[in-house]
Amino acid sequence: MLASMPLTKPSTVGELLERARGPLFSFEFFPPRTEEEEPVLLRAVEALAPLGPDFVSVTYGATGSRRDRTIHATRKIAAIGNPMTVGHLTCVAQSKADIAAALHEYADAGVTNILAIRGDMPGGGEWEPHPDGLRNATELVEFVKNEGDFCVGVAAFVQPHPDSNDPDVDARILLGKVEAGAEFAITQLFFETQDYFDLVERVRGMGCDVPIIAGLMPLTVITQIERFQDLSGQPLPASFVDRLRAADPADVRSIGLQHTIDMCKDLIAGGAPGLQFFTQNRSKATREVLAAVLEDPGLAIARSA
Ligand SMILES: Cc1cc2nc3c(=O)[nH]c(=O)nc-3n(C[C@H](O)[C@H](O)[C@H](O)COP(=O)(O)OP(=O)(O)OC[C@H]3O[C@@H](n4cnc5c(N)ncnc54)[C@H](O)[C@@H]3O)c2cc1C
Repeated sequence: MLASMPLTKPSTVGELLERARGPLFSFEFFPPRTEEEEPVLLRAVEALAPLGPDFVSVTYGATGSRRDRTIHATRKIAAIGNPMTVGHLTCVAQSKADIAAALHEYADAGVTNILAIRGDMPGGGEWEPHPDGLRNATELVEFVKNEGDFCVGVAAFVQPHPDSNDPDVDARILLGKVEAGAEFAITQLFFETQDYFDLVERVRGMGCDVPIIAGLMPLTVITQIERFQDLSGQPLPASFVDRLRAADPADVRSIGLQHTIDMCKDLIAGGAPGLQFFTQNRSKATREVLAAVLEDPGLAIARSA
C-alpha cells in the first residue's frame, strides 16, 4: 500500500479552489475612513470568523490615506493567520513604482493573494491612467505576476460593465486577464442567478475554465435599492423591487435576506465554486444568510479542507 503524503495547508485561493470539496465562502470588507474606524472593521472580521470563511479581503482605497489604511488593516488581519487574506490592489492614481511598493508591503505581511482591479476615478468621471502607471486590470495582472509569486484574482461582471456596456466584450476582457495569469475571478454584486450562469456560459464558450466566485450583498433596508443599482450597474429585478416597495417596512429586511439565501442555494446547486459576501463591515446579515445556507440539509455542503 502506498503511504499517503500529508497535504500541506493551501496557501493560495487557487489551491483552495483546486482542493475544495464544496463552494468557498469569503467576506469582503472596506478600509476604515479614519484610524478610529479600524476597530469597527476588525470587530466585523472577528464576528464573522466563527463561520469559517475560506478567505477575507479589504477593498483598496481610492486616495492615499485610505490606501494606507487598506494595507494596514489587511496586514493586521493577515497577522492573525486565519482565515487566508487577499490583498486588493488598483491602478488608480498610482505609478508602477507605487504599485510595486504596495505589492512589497503585502508580501512583507505574508499576503500571497492579490485581487488585481483597475479601479475607478475618485468622484466618478472617465477613466484616466496615471502617466507612469497601468491602463487596465490586464496590465496589472501581468505586473503583479512579474513582481512576485502571487496568486492573482480579478473582477468579473454579471451585468455589463458601464465602460463597455457589452457582455461579450466583458467576457473577452476576463479571458485576457486569465491569459495574463489570473487564477480566479469574483463578480460584482448581482440579484438574478440566471445572469451569473449566463456569464459562466459565455466565458466557458470562449474555452476559459477560470473559477468565477459569485459576489453577493444582502439588501436589508429599502434605501439600498438605488445604491445597489449603482454598484451592480443595472436596475434590480423589477419583481424583487416591487415586492420590497409593497412590503411593510418591518418586513423589508427579511425579504432581502431571503432573496440572498435563495440566490445562494441556486448558485451552489448550479455549481458556483464560491460565494463572496460584500459585508460593508457589518456582520449580522451575512451571518444570518450563511447560517441558513450552511444548515440547509438539502444542500449537504462540504466545507473545504
Ligand atoms: C470583486 C470586485 C472587487 C473590487 N474591488 C475594488 C477595490 O478594492 N477598489 C476599487 O477602487 N474598486 C474595486 N472594484 C470596482 C472596480 O474598480 C470597477 O468595477 C472598475 O470600473 C473596473 O475594474 P476592472 O478590474 O474590472 O477593470 P478592467 O478589467 O480593466 O476593465 C474595465 C474596463 O476597461 C476597458 N478595458 C479593460 N481592458 C481592456 C482591453 N484590453 N481593451 C479594451 N478595453 C479594455 C473596458 O471598457 C472594461 O469594461 C471591485 C470590483 C469587483 C467586481
